[in-house]
Amino acid sequence: MLKLDFHPSGRHVLQIPGPSPVPDRLLRAMSYPTIDHRGPEFAMLGLKVLAGIKRIFKTTQPVIIYSSSGTGAWEGALVNTLCPGDRILMYETGHFASLWREMAENLGLRPERIGRDGVEGWRRGVEADLIEQRLRADGGHAIKAVCVVHNETSTGVTSDIASVRRAIDAAGHPALLLVDTISGLASADYRHDAWGADVTVSGSQKGLMLPPGLGFNAVSQKALHAHAAARLPRSYWDWTPILKANETGYWPTTPNTNLLYALSEAIEMIEEEGLDRVFARHARLAEACRAAVRGWGLDIQCADPQVYSPVLTGVMMPEGVDANAVRQRIAETFDLSLGTGLGRMAGRMFRIGHLGDCNDLSLMAALAGCEMGLKLSGVRLAGSGVVAAMDLLARTEVHSLTKVA
Ligand SMILES: *Cc1c(COP(=O)(O)O)cnc(C)c1O
Repeated sequence: MLKLDFHPSGRHVLQIPGPSPVPDRLLRAMSYPTIDHRGPEFAMLGLKVLAGIKRIFKTTQPVIIYSSSGTGAWEGALVNTLCPGDRILMYETGHFASLWREMAENLGLRPERIGRDGVEGWRRGVEADLIEQRLRADGGHAIKAVCVVHNETSTGVTSDIASVRRAIDAAGHPALLLVDTISGLASADYRHDAWGADVTVSGSQKGLMLPPGLGFNAVSQKALHAHAAARLPRSYWDWTPILKANETGYWPTTPNTNLLYALSEAIEMIEEEGLDRVFARHARLAEACRAAVRGWGLDIQCADPQVYSPVLTGVMMPEGVDANAVRQRIAETFDLSLGTGLGRMAGRMFRIGHLGDCNDLSLMAALAGCEMGLKLSGVRLAGSGVVAAMDLLARTEVHSLTKVA
């Protein structure tokens, strides 16, 4: 690990799947002086970010912005829409889905796990027909919500949210659809309104390129309706006072002013590039990353090519290799941070993030660090993943992909 009395030359290569590297333009925006959060200037900022973030979620409905990490916004989604003891269906795609379920239990809900068992369940996306079957069996409508993770950051699997909405509708079931796209927002296509999500949860430190510290709840009219009747204890997370204050561009408590400067700037950056181009850039970098993993002769954690994540790639280590030892060696030798294996994947894999402010050469730096570190760790490689990734990037120009998308 980095020693505190040692300042390495060059830039640290932060290639974990969130926090993602913060562009200098956002760091500069954050360095503006903090202003009076009750003054007239603040309202202009507040109204601007509240309008802008809706376009990123692709919604015309309100988006609540919390000073919190993504986990706080998870709690916001649950406590604002549900009652003590409510049954909810929570699809397990990986570690983050299981942590959200733990939270639901802690809050006094009765979550039911759904999804394939064991490691297999962590290698593929949501199978919406399992949800449909379960909801069809719930004739009394005891299940109040279905919770799914759009981009499972622990594994590198992206789920089809529109198919989950279709499954709920096909079963004729009134359950709310709550979606975590903490790592998917502004890095993978996401459409809150078109896909019929009732609450979409996100955070600032992944695709949005901000430091950690903002959480989001995009809502639907149905979620606001449920909110009026929801009885789980809520105070800080309560949407009502926030929505009221937001009407004039303010918050009931002190908002994270400097992160809101950065959010305003990030929305501008994303819209200058264009959301579709942002998604195409992520998809192409992800493809290059997978080409590298295949070039090394290693396995990709996601077992279904249909649902490969554009945000990160999970790299499985061969039997007998401790992924954390490899990761640590890479960090110490090349000052490159990779994501660790989480939950049941601890020690079995590491994760390469390719989200946010990432381009061809930042990905190549990460892949070169991985390849050198794998060799130093004695992992037998089939060939050069770096060369495979360079070949792919040289063949596919980002704008040509954009036109197809
Ligand atoms: C990062 C992440 C979280 C946790 O967010 P925090 O900001 O760490 O609280 C939850 N779910 C997913 C899918 C994530 O990527």
